[in-house]
Amino acid sequence: MTRPKKSLGQHFLVDKNIIEKIIRYARLKQDDIVIEIGAGHGELTIPLSEHVSQVFAIEKDPGLCYKLRKRIGEERIRNIKVIRGDILKLDLREIEDFPKRPVVMGNIPYNISSLILKKLISSKEMIERAILMFQLEYAKRLVASPGTKDYGSLTLLVSYHATVKELFSVSKNVFFPRPSVDSMVVEIVFDKRYPESEEAVFRFVVNAAFSHRRKNILNSLFEYMKGSGIRKGGIRNVLLSSNISPELRAENLSIEDFLRLSEKMKKYLPKEQVE
Ligand code: SAH
Repeated sequence: MTRPKKSLGQHFLVDKNIIEKIIRYARLKQDDIVIEIGAGHGELTIPLSEHVSQVFAIEKDPGLCYKLRKRIGEERIRNIKVIRGDILKLDLREIEDFPKRPVVMGNIPYNISSLILKKLISSKEMIERAILMFQLEYAKRLVASPGTKDYGSLTLLVSYHATVKELFSVSKNVFFPRPSVDSMVVEIVFDKRYPESEEAVFRFVVNAAFSHRRKNILNSLFEYMKGSGIRKGGIRNVLLSSNISPELRAENLSIEDFLRLSEKMKKYLPKEQVE
């Protein structure tokens, strides 16, 4: 094994049981197509290839691509294609004319978790679902329920596009080199179809609502927006007409509450901020 590169988030899975567990929880079908993000030495790639029809393994590190291709050649594995590239720069649609929507999988570099999610969201129509390993704290924010400390703008901004489900937690001891924190595997199904045109308003309202977490929703929206000239009474009316008590905190509102609120809020928002 070459010296792992910290800058590329290289923490390799060294426990076969965990690799099998990820594959089991992914409930793959023999005719599935997998796009793997960050193939490494093929820790997941090779076992995956035994369960699906094809794996497209994306890896940024040229040295690892070389080694993985060599191994695949030696073992005469025919259904893995190694793609040397940066997941953030690749257009997933250009990889291949997929006969069915691929499942995205990966033990991803934690420092680009949000950028990867953004990338997948922008390609959501072509992806069946994603099974990804995230840093535990980050994953908890993705799967959080209203009323908990982990529930916040990340939860909601992703919920606008997808349903995220916790699969299982993973100890840091199963990686080499060992990271400083534990991980969690989650499943992301891009099953939401709220209008793209409304997303900017939704984002604005969610960010405003969570900008002052300890204040009630009325005060945090007001604090965030007061520069635009809106009056507190106006915000109160919008909340009441959205069926939301101004005394609640942002963390107590469900995505449905936020959707209703952003619908009513739309006309009060500064145009340049929500386009
Ligand atoms: N799949 C392997 C490796 C996981 S470590 C395993 O589970 O053990 C994360 C991998 O992502 C590393 O191999 C790293 O080189 C690769 N990587 C980092 N940034 C990347 C990027 N932007 N695009 C594609 N791969 C990347």
